[in-house]
Amino acid sequence: MDKKPSIFNLPLSGLEAWVATRREPLYRAKQVLQWLYQKRITRFREMSDLSERLRDELDREFLLEPLACVRKTGSGDTTQKFLFALRDQSFIESVLIPASPALYGSPSDRKTLCVSTQVGCAYGCKFCASGLEGWTRNLEPGEMVEQILRVEALSGEKINNIVFMGMGEPLANYQNLLQAIEIIRAPWGIGIGARHITISTSGLAPRIRELADQPLQIRLAVSLHGATDAVREKIMPINRKFNLAALMDACAYYGEKKHQRITFEYILIENVNDGLDQVMELAGLARRLEAKINLIPYNTVEGLSWKRPSQTRQQTFYRALRKSGVDATIRREKGHDIDAACGQLRLQTMQDKNFAGSNNLR
Ligand code: SF4
Repeated sequence: MDKKPSIFNLPLSGLEAWVATRREPLYRAKQVLQWLYQKRITRFREMSDLSERLRDELDREFLLEPLACVRKTGSGDTTQKFLFALRDQSFIESVLIPASPALYGSPSDRKTLCVSTQVGCAYGCKFCASGLEGWTRNLEPGEMVEQILRVEALSGEKINNIVFMGMGEPLANYQNLLQAIEIIRAPWGIGIGARHITISTSGLAPRIRELADQPLQIRLAVSLHGATDAVREKIMPINRKFNLAALMDACAYYGEKKHQRITFEYILIENVNDGLDQVMELAGLARRLEAKINLIPYNTVEGLSWKRPSQTRQQTFYRALRKSGVDATIRREKGHDIDAACGQLRLQTMQDKNFAGSNNLR
C-alpha cells in the first residue's frame, strides 16, 4: 500500500503550512483546494494554474486517487448503497438516501449520505452487521470526506445532508471526525453547514459532553434501542459502561449547551424491545429532553436471529408513543430491499467467495 497521506486529510491551515515549506505564497493552498472541492479534479497535473514544480511536489507527497467503488446497489425508490475498497483493501459503505420525512428534518430536496467512520466496529451491538467482524481501524478524515465526493460523482446527486451513522462509532474516532467535519463545513471545502450534519452515536456519554463543548451546531442522534437498562443491555453492550442515567445526563448537557432537540433512534426488534412496557419508559426519556423519536423497523441480518416486527406490532408501538404526547416518526424503510442497514453490504461481500473485485466500478 502507498504510504503517502491523502491530500483530502488536509484542512486549509495544513495545506498553507505545507505550501509555506515550499516557499510558495499562502494563496496557493486555496488554489489547490479549489481544484479539489470545486472543480473536483482527480490528478495533480490538472491543476493548471500551479507551476509544474509544485504539481510534481504535490504528486510526490500526497495521494489523490479516488476511492474505488467495488459494488453499488440501488433500490426502486432510489436509495443507493456504495461499497468502497480502501487503499489497504478494507471495505466501507456509504448509503445515499433521498428525501425522507422521518430522517432528520423536512423532506424538501434533502439528499442524505450516511458516512462510515471506522472499518468495522468494536461496540458489538447485537443486531448490527458492522459489529459482527469486530473493529479493524479508524478512518482518516480524508476517507470520510472522500465518501461524499465519490458518491456525488457516481450518483450525479448533490448531497446536502450528512449523517455519520454508517459503519463504526463516530465518537470513538473523535479527532479524525472533527477534522473531517471541518473540511465538510468549510466554504473552501465541501460547504455543508453544521446544521445539516448529524452525528449518530451508540452513547459514548463523555464524548457527547466533549462535543457539546465544541463551538459547533452539529446535530446529535442517539441510538437508544431500549428504554430501560435491562432491555438496552441485552442488545447494546455499551450500556454496561454508560448506562441510561449517564447517557441521559450527557444528552441533557448537549441539549442545554446547543439549544437543540436531540433525536433518539429506536430500532424495533420483535419481542426484544417492541413491547408496550417500553413505550411509557421511552416516552418518559423523550419528554425529559424534549427529544424526537425516530422508530426504525429492524432490517433482518443474515446470521442473526433478530426479527422485524409485523406491521401491526410496529403501528401499535408507534400509536401508543404518539398517544403519550411525544414527537415520534416511523421510518418508511427506503433501503430494506437492498440491505441498507449499516454493515450489511460489506458483510455480504466479504462472505461472497466469488467476489473478487470483478465488478469494480471505480
Ligand atoms: S450499531 Fe453502530 S455502534 Fe453498534 S455495532 Fe453497529 S456500527 Fe457499532
